Amino acid sequence: MADPRELYQQVILEHNKKPRNFGKIHSCTHQAEGHNPLCGDQLYLTLIVQEGIIEDIQFEGRGCAIDVSSASLMTTAVKGKTVQDALKLIQAFRALVRGEWNPAAHGDLGKLVVFQGVKNLPVRVKCAVLPWATLQSALDGSPIASTE
Ligand code: ZN
Repeated sequence: MADPRELYQQVILEHNKKPRNFGKIHSCTHQAEGHNPLCGDQLYLTLIVQEGIIEDIQFEGRGCAIDVSSASLMTTAVKGKTVQDALKLIQAFRALVRGEWNPAAHGDLGKLVVFQGVKNLPVRVKCAVLPWATLQSALDGSPIASTE
């Protein structure tokens, strides 16, 4: 059995090295930009949402390993999901990194549980949440909150 902390590092390092869905959709229906001034993370999300389903999602930008791997795992987690399910997942992820995640209330998070360790690193919580906050803005169509 691998040490959970080791698994956490492996998944994060691997997604940072080879981010999934990295790029830009030119004919996107939704987009948003996110910025975390504390760390310097910058993120640009583009999506194609059709009939309430996230058909495609890509991200671009520069960030630390936590930010990039969180964005990478997020895109794989929400691609093909309904907007409603994606919004639920955003809430569950926020709860996870704050140490408030409860599987019975928030549902299974799959691989995303590797971010559970972030709750012990308060300065990294913003890095992990940035892609999710940016996704929320893209889906809401509201201006991005950079300090969330
Ligand atoms: Zn960061």
